[in-house]
Amino acid sequence: MSKVALITGGSRGIGKGCALELAKAGMDVAITYVGNDEAANQTVKEIKELGVKAKAYKFDISDKTACAEAVEKIHADFERIDVLVNNAGITRDGLFIRMNDENWEAVINTNLNSAFYMTQPISKIMMKQREGCIINMSSIVGVRGNLGQANYSAAKAGLIGLTKSLAKELGSRNIRVNAIAPGFVKTDMTKGLAVEKIIDIIPLKRLGEPDDIAKTVKFLACDATYITGQVIGVDGGLSF
Ligand code: NAP
Repeated sequence: MSKVALITGGSRGIGKGCALELAKAGMDVAITYVGNDEAANQTVKEIKELGVKAKAYKFDISDKTACAEAVEKIHADFERIDVLVNNAGITRDGLFIRMNDENWEAVINTNLNSAFYMTQPISKIMMKQREGCIINMSSIVGVRGNLGQANYSAAKAGLIGLTKSLAKELGSRNIRVNAIAPGFVKTDMTKGLAVEKIIDIIPLKRLGEPDDIAKTVKFLACDATYITGQVIGVDGGLSF
């Protein structure tokens, strides 16, 4: 039976790159998304063209009940879940002193609480399977902080704490838990940023591509059999 990967926010950007890379490695792939049907359908089509099973699930990742129902459906459809990539995320940037409750809560719920909602039921499935791999999509700003992103940095730092604690709790069950901390990656999320100024401070002198992150996900999922509890910076050298 093929291995099964579940990628939240797999319809576009980094998540789509991860979905295609894991499909290329022979995994069946479930993606989740919240609104963009066209992008999700296109991604499912591209995954299927690689000769594996693919299905998209539409629900709000910040809704605990919706997450629980979706995990049940996905498990019923695919029979197992070997790799979980907690990737769905949003930004609602603004200076902290002016940040309203809505923007704080939307980012914490979508970027951090979602990982709790998805990972708890899925880690039970992985424990029964006696193997699994969980990858949390953090960010360079979860490590270093950023002006105007207190909500986003807090959520991404929270994912790092979750990663390290779960690696300790689940290691004896042969479940590895790691985080990736991307720098600036070319997706809809970073559209409109002043790219030239940013490139100037990146040692590799370019923005990341979704594929750069996806290859690291594939490494963690398929090859990194003795790596757990780590935060891998994939940022063109920005953070060292
Ligand atoms: P993106 O292009 O904006 O895609 C976001 C994905 O998340 C989409 O699939 C979207 O679904 C889904 N999503 C958003 N809100 C959701 C919700 N409430 N429920 C379910 N799904 C939801 O973002 P990206 O740039 O690929 O980023 C992916 C992850 O990497 C995020 O966690 C982000 O914080 C992190 N990251 C990105 C960068 C970067 O430079 N791009 C850097 C560091 C970390 P729809 O298509 O339906 O909207």
